[in-house]
Amino acid sequence: MRRFLLPLLLAAVSAPAADAPRVPDLAQLQKMTARFAPTELRASTEHLSAGDRRALAKLIEAAKVVDDVFLKQLYAKNPGLLAELRKDTTPLGKARLRYFWMNKGPWSSIDDYAAFLPGVPARKPLGANYYPEGFTKEQFESWKAKLPEPQKKKAEGFFWVVRLGKQRDLRLVPYSQEYRAELTRMSALLKEAAAATDNATLKRFLVTRAQAFLADDYYESDVAWMDLDAPIDVTIGPYETYSDELLGYKAAFEAYVCLRDDAETKKLAFLTSRMQELEDNLPLDPKYRNPKVGALAPLRVVNEVYSGGEGNQGVQSAAFNLPNDERVVREKGSKRVMLKNVQRAKFEKTLVPIAERVIGKEAARDLSFDSFFTHIVAHEVTHGLGPHAITVGGVESSPRKELKELYGALEEAKADVTGLVALQYLMDKGAPELPGGAEAERRLYTTFLASSFRTLRFGIHEAHARGMAMQVNALVDKGGFVVRPDGTYGVDFAKIKDAVRELDRELLTLEATGDYAGAKKKLEELGKLRPELEKALAGLGDVPIDIEPVFGK
Ligand code: ZN
Repeated sequence: MRRFLLPLLLAAVSAPAADAPRVPDLAQLQKMTARFAPTELRASTEHLSAGDRRALAKLIEAAKVVDDVFLKQLYAKNPGLLAELRKDTTPLGKARLRYFWMNKGPWSSIDDYAAFLPGVPARKPLGANYYPEGFTKEQFESWKAKLPEPQKKKAEGFFWVVRLGKQRDLRLVPYSQEYRAELTRMSALLKEAAAATDNATLKRFLVTRAQAFLADDYYESDVAWMDLDAPIDVTIGPYETYSDELLGYKAAFEAYVCLRDDAETKKLAFLTSRMQELEDNLPLDPKYRNPKVGALAPLRVVNEVYSGGEGNQGVQSAAFNLPNDERVVREKGSKRVMLKNVQRAKFEKTLVPIAERVIGKEAARDLSFDSFFTHIVAHEVTHGLGPHAITVGGVESSPRKELKELYGALEEAKADVTGLVALQYLMDKGAPELPGGAEAERRLYTTFLASSFRTLRFGIHEAHARGMAMQVNALVDKGGFVVRPDGTYGVDFAKIKDAVRELDRELLTLEATGDYAGAKKKLEELGKLRPELEKALAGLGDVPIDIEPVFGK
């Protein structure tokens, strides 16, 4: 165990200084920051009871403490750096402080965590501040191998950091101890919020989570979170493990303090109540249709009031699936939360400017956030439709198993296209929840076309974007989308509905038959950037990549 103490010490002594990397100057930093458009996030609190209003204030306070914890988790020197930056009133100092806050540290998260402040490592340490400085995977493994079984579990667990003890030995320290001051404060605030709210499910989540912060056992409160159904929808605690790039074990603190969106929740209930009918009318050979569509994992539509910690670092989440604890997922499943006002902000600040260039200013007038968001909801719901249990050569199987590494791209495209088919079907039925007509159709397909460019912009190595390129190219080939002589894209409204149904039939049939070769051929031919797509995307360089949330006072 003592063998690797020396290199650790050396690493600490010979830190930066000598070959300090160049860091961005004021102009460069402003350019980096401008990739995120500052946007005020609004959510109406009018319908909240007096008790819930008091609870909300306490929860925002708790979420701000989450910021403090996450700063410490990312880098031991973060609190000191932040204090220094707050004293620096020069333009460069102010720019650095703003970007530091957006990234919750001195490394730019969308630039592979490259340093933008002097005097810090050139890149974020892989293990962040969850392990001793300079700690390696091999050191972890050889240390873990000697641990007794219960300790081994904690070493790989979400809620224990690894620290050097006084004897320079390695120790496991639970979060409740490592962040004792912050977690004690958060626990007290959650209890106060629990006392104030009149909603039983919220009360239960807050009381159990307040205990979890001090006991490092989140099981009961994760279960309570799954059952949470209240005007205030809050997610707060240690969740994702992305910031532990060394081993992927340690959970970062994040908070989303949100309000349930009742109008959208009703629309969602309407869509899910028609699942079987939608399945029965899919453009798919009836023998492949599912006679008994299963229950959908719970979905919530909310508006964000405050996000803290990793939940407000770099690119903003517009939706998340939690919890990650496999025990809870096995017993209760997981829940998907969609942040509607974050989606709206992204729509306004990134999708609208993209659309004005790729489909032209005239057509961009048909863009509609309502259509955009309804389609996102339909996408989620239609993941539950179509083939899931299939038979290939007499053997029971699933599309995921048969289509292997292609499944992600194909299933995302299927959900997009089936979402359009489902919405068109309900619009044609004249459902009052989903009014149809020529104008509604123009908005739906125009918004879908424009939004595809926002997805494609991030490169087609990612499953969703590859599936999106396949859709755009296929719909161009079927005449539903057209490329105009000036390079802009448009919708042919006489052909788009048939084109979408035809593409949906192809995708659903590939899944129903588990046709790996067919899926491969389709993705190879269509899941790429053709020259005209490439040209359209090249003109988008200066459009913001994302938003910087500004929370109302
Ligand atoms: Zn999806």
